[in-house]
Amino acid sequence: MDHREMNSVSCANCGKPATTKCSGCLAAPEYQPGDAPTTAYCDSQCQREQWPTHKAQCRILNKRRTLLRIAELLKTTLLAYRECVYDIPLTGVKYEEGILRLLLDPRKIPYRPWQIPFPSDLNISPQHKEAVLATNQCTTAQCLLGPLARYLLAGIKSTFKIAEVNAEPIVPWKIVWLNDSKEESRSFDCAAVTHTILLVWIGGEGWVVDITGCQFGFQEILVPLNTYFKKRVRSISRGPFAYTEHETSDLDVFDCQLALNDTDKKRLKAAHERAGRLHFAKFVKEHFDRYESTRPSEELLSGTSEEFQGKLARFESNLKAHMTSFVDFAFGKERLNWSD
Ligand SMILES: [Zn+2]
Ligand SMILES: [Zn+2]
Repeated sequence: MDHREMNSVSCANCGKPATTKCSGCLAAPEYQPGDAPTTAYCDSQCQREQWPTHKAQCRILNKRRTLLRIAELLKTTLLAYRECVYDIPLTGVKYEEGILRLLLDPRKIPYRPWQIPFPSDLNISPQHKEAVLATNQCTTAQCLLGPLARYLLAGIKSTFKIAEVNAEPIVPWKIVWLNDSKEESRSFDCAAVTHTILLVWIGGEGWVVDITGCQFGFQEILVPLNTYFKKRVRSISRGPFAYTEHETSDLDVFDCQLALNDTDKKRLKAAHERAGRLHFAKFVKEHFDRYESTRPSEELLSGTSEEFQGKLARFESNLKAHMTSFVDFAFGKERLNWSD
């Protein structure tokens, strides 16, 4: 039960002024307008009496809230990973005429390992930073997060699939390479990429979990499926299909393509990327091996909003510390100890 200010909510059982909110369904997202009301009681007697009636609704709202937390955790994970192992020589970010422009000046960075910490000297808003971290990361995210996502979703009874869509960006992005006179030498924009989303069905409701939508200015990470397709999708390009990817699935495919492996530089870049992904996979495996519950995701995803935010922050800082040890290795500060 939550004992915060009640704002004249009345008891769901007897109608008297309520004093405690049902913690099972508090702050659940709406699927349809008004379908996630706060349920509150005047005392525990009333709560007990009302439970047989409230039970079914409470369970579905609780599942929705868990799904929202899974989405938050996955997005936090991707952005934390990208912040530690960023792979483009970003030298500036400009928001002009409604387009977010990522400026790359390769001459400023003659040689850097490819998996580097995100530049800390860029003066950008938190929203633009998220967008830049997630730019063109749909495939990476889908693979990187596969085992973690399946692990977390196993804790709620659900069906899930992946779909690739042509999105309707709110804030389109453009990657721009600068030349000697600070002009664009070439560019690449978001119209050229498909967007990958996770479709999840729980208790008869269809949802879209959108981890990388922040690259297009999408703020919501959990949206009812119909709403999402009406507002954000121009067309479906592939899917829905089964979500079977793991941390290096895309790299395994790239490894077989000659054009991506015909120089030492390309092979070294691929090796760096693979090492980063495997280092991440190790974190996921070690972290979740510690949870011995039969419903493994429950421990991480349960509790009040404040408790969950605390667990999320700890998860994020542990992941960053883990990935930083990889970056140190990539920079040559540490030797990899194979006997570990
Ligand atoms: Zn009552
Ligand atoms: Zn409830």
